[in-house]
Amino acid sequence: MSLRARLTLLYTSLVGGILLLFGVAVYTAVSITITSQIDDTLVHTAVRVWSNTHVGGGWQVLNWPLLDLPADVYVQVWGTDGKLQAFSPNVDLLDAPLDEAALSSSRSLVRDAYPRNIHLRVLTVPLAVGDRIIGILQLGTRLSLVDAVQRTLLIVLVIGFLLALTIAGVAAWLSTEQALSPLQDVTQVALQITHADDLSRRIPYQGPPEDEIGSLISAFNQTLGRLENLFHSQRRFMADVGHELRTPLTVIRGNVDLMRRIGADDESLCGIESEVERLTRLVGDLLLLAQAEAGKMPLDRRLVELDTLVLEVMNQMRVLARDKLTLRLGDFDQVLVCGDSDRLKQVLVNLIGNGIKYTPAGGELIMGVGKVGNQARLTVSDNGPGIPLEDQPYIFERFYRGEKARTRSKDGKGFGLGLSIAYWIVRHHGGRIDVDSAEGRGTTFAVWLPLAEGDCQSPA
Ligand code: ADP
Repeated sequence: MSLRARLTLLYTSLVGGILLLFGVAVYTAVSITITSQIDDTLVHTAVRVWSNTHVGGGWQVLNWPLLDLPADVYVQVWGTDGKLQAFSPNVDLLDAPLDEAALSSSRSLVRDAYPRNIHLRVLTVPLAVGDRIIGILQLGTRLSLVDAVQRTLLIVLVIGFLLALTIAGVAAWLSTEQALSPLQDVTQVALQITHADDLSRRIPYQGPPEDEIGSLISAFNQTLGRLENLFHSQRRFMADVGHELRTPLTVIRGNVDLMRRIGADDESLCGIESEVERLTRLVGDLLLLAQAEAGKMPLDRRLVELDTLVLEVMNQMRVLARDKLTLRLGDFDQVLVCGDSDRLKQVLVNLIGNGIKYTPAGGELIMGVGKVGNQARLTVSDNGPGIPLEDQPYIFERFYRGEKARTRSKDGKGFGLGLSIAYWIVRHHGGRIDVDSAEGRGTTFAVWLPLAEGDCQSPA
C-alpha cells in the first residue's frame, strides 16, 4: 500500500474513531437524560396518586381530574387478587396491565414494556400498608416521542459521521498528495540521474527549506553535489594519472626501440632509468596520497626539533640549488613539535624544492622557524615569480599545476602532487599550511603545527 494511501487511511480512521466515540457519547447522554426525566415524572406522579388513594372496602382513587395527571401518564391500580381496582381516565388499554411481568415484583421497578406493541416506560410500585402488600400501582408513559427523537438523532449522527469521514478522507488524500508531491520529484530526479548519468541535476523545491521535506531535499541535493565533486575528481584523477604515466612509458618504449635497432647504449639506459625512477616516485606519491585521504597515513610520532630538521634539509637541498639560488635562514628559534620527522622532512623538501624549481637564477630562498602563541611556524619564502591569485585556491589539489609549471613540465620533475602531499602531511599532524604570494613578488609558504606537549604518545 502506498504511503499516501496509508496516511489517508490512518487519518480517516482517526477521525472516524473520534466521531464514533463522540456519537455514542451524545446518543447515550441524550437517551439517559430523557429517560431519567421521564422516570422522575413517573415517580412524582406515583407519589401524588398514592397520597390521593383511599383504601376502604374497595379501592378508590380520589378525584382523578383533581390530580391533574400529565396527559400521557397512564395509571392503573391492581389488587393482590390480580384485578384492576382503579385506573386513570386516559387509559385506553383498560383491562391489560401496563407491565404484566412486573406485577409479581415485590419491589419498585421502572423499565420499558410493550403491551399491545406500544412502547411504554412503566413504573411498578407495590402498595404496602405496614408490611402488608395490598396492591400494585403501575404508571406508564408512551415513549413514541423519545423513540422518534432517538431515531432522528441516530440518523443525524450516522449521516454526520459518514459525511465527516468522506470529507476527512478526501482532505487527507488531497493534502497528502500536496505534501508528498516533492517526494515524487525526488524519485523522478533520482531516476533521471540514474538513466542519464547526470549528477549536475538538483531537485527543485518551492516550499519552506526548514520543513521536513525541505530538509530532506536539501540533504539530498548536498549529497548530489558531493557525489558530483567526487565523480569529477575521480574522472580528473584517472585522466591525470593516465597522462602522467603515458609520458615516461613513451620515453621508455622509444629507448627500448632504439636499443633494439642500434644496441644498448648508455644514453638510452640512463633515459630508461630516469623514467623508471620518475614512475616509482609517482606511484609512491599516489600511494601516500591515497593513504592520507583515507585517513590512514602511518605516522611515527616523536619529539622533533624543527630547527634541526630545517638545517638538515637545507644542507641537503643546497646541492640542488647549486649556484642557481642562495639559501639562507631568516628568523630562527628552537622549536619542538610532535610528529613523524621523515614526513615533516618531506614537507620541507617539497616546499624548498618548489622554491628552487620556480625561482629564477640569482634568486633567494629564506627558511624560518619560530613560535607564535602555542603554534610552531615554519616558513619558506622565495623571491620568484609568485603564484597568480586565480591559481592559489587550487595549488594544494592533487595534479594541479600552474600554467607556467605545466609548460615547464618537460623537465620531467613535477607531477603537481608535491603541495598536495605537504597539505595532507601537515593536516595529519593537526596543523595547516598557508600561502602568501603575489605575481612578481615571490611566494611564502607557512606551515603551522601545534607545539609539543608531553611525551608525544597520544595522537594530535
Ligand atoms: P609541481 O609538481 O607542479 O611543483 P606542486 O603541487 O608542488 O606541483 O605545486 C603546484 C603548483 O603550485 C605548481 O605547479 C606551481 O604552479 C605552483 N607553485 C608551487 N610552489 C611555487 C613557488 N614557490 N613559486 C611559484 N609557484 C609555485
